[in-house]
Amino acid sequence: MESTRYYDNPFEDYPNPKAEQLVNAATKEINEEYKEIIYKGTKKLLDRLEENQKHWLSHDDYSVYTGSAGIAYLFYHCGKCLDEPAYIDKAEELLRTCVSKFRSRREVTFLTGITGPLALYAVVLHSQGNKEELKNIITKLKSLSPHVLNEDNDLPDELLYGRVGYLFALLFLNKHISPPPIEDKLIKQVIAITIKSGNIYASSRKYKTPIMYAWHNSEYLGGAHGLGGILYLLLQARPYLTQSQLENDINPALQFLQNLRYPSGNFPSSIGSNTDKLVHWCHGAPGMPMLFCLAYEIYEDKKYLDTALQCGEVIWKRGLLKKGYGICHGVAGNAYAFLCLFQQTKDIKHLYRACKFAEWCIDYGTHQTRSPDRPFSLFEGLAGTIYFLLDMQNPSSAKFPAYSV
Ligand SMILES: [Zn+2]
Repeated sequence: MESTRYYDNPFEDYPNPKAEQLVNAATKEINEEYKEIIYKGTKKLLDRLEENQKHWLSHDDYSVYTGSAGIAYLFYHCGKCLDEPAYIDKAEELLRTCVSKFRSRREVTFLTGITGPLALYAVVLHSQGNKEELKNIITKLKSLSPHVLNEDNDLPDELLYGRVGYLFALLFLNKHISPPPIEDKLIKQVIAITIKSGNIYASSRKYKTPIMYAWHNSEYLGGAHGLGGILYLLLQARPYLTQSQLENDINPALQFLQNLRYPSGNFPSSIGSNTDKLVHWCHGAPGMPMLFCLAYEIYEDKKYLDTALQCGEVIWKRGLLKKGYGICHGVAGNAYAFLCLFQQTKDIKHLYRACKFAEWCIDYGTHQTRSPDRPFSLFEGLAGTIYFLLDMQNPSSAKFPAYSV
């Protein structure tokens, strides 16, 4: 059953005699000729995406996750990586439409709510020097905060549909716009209510963690819906955390999460799940190296780094997914784990592994995979794969979109 979810990895691992055609162990970089191969493959896929504009515009929910805001995110990335300002103009146009047409006002996260289009639009406007419109957009984004800070509503805390999905947008704005437009107080309030919500839930259970969460009655652990994604966003907000939150809430929760691993090193999708089968960014090991590398940096606990490295082994073995090439539950998303491990350790093995997964992605559509509902989108489809391949041009600064600030 399990073996049907992924292809056996056909690639030879590092080191091997042919590896130096891909990566240079001395400079710790991808070789220029190989980079060029990836670049050409990326360009081809980008052309395919643009040729299909009619298709993705006709099935648009305007979100970052599955809609044209996600494609705008990619175009903005293209504009910067390829130094082609025309892509930034395209992003601006798409985002303007997303912001005006977005319907579901209750959704407040970067990935599925209006917050994503607003935050991206703000960053693009800032890059274009449009101060007046930027101010309006920031005001709109902040006007959603009472809903996020309301303790009595049913808003979850997770990244995809909950509070830390709003937190991502706030951190993203302060990272990309100067002076930072979001005041410390609001960020600290979002952190405080997220931790409080986790404290309340954990105290209703008998787990050895001060914070825990549930969504739709499942206690998820992964990047999109679970504890892992929530802890990662909280740690990325480190300058706004109190010492007590770092030591008494987040660190014990990290240890708790770490102890839930399967013997293989993979993570369950939720507490109580004992079928070790999902190796996705959304559920399983691939969302975890980013969290545990950052935890290692902050707490200097070697066990956190070991956990991240162990995830890398699981992903190398079982990460070529039959679900496809996307970033939420596909090969490109899984490859970001290698880039993160390379950035943390500077061990060329991880960069080599990312190259091999990139090679797989460039052969887009040639392996038998399930076709996603939104085949061109950032999180399920082609746009996310291209986003990853573009990051391969500059692996040291690669960041999983909408997850790593
Ligand atoms: Zn997924």
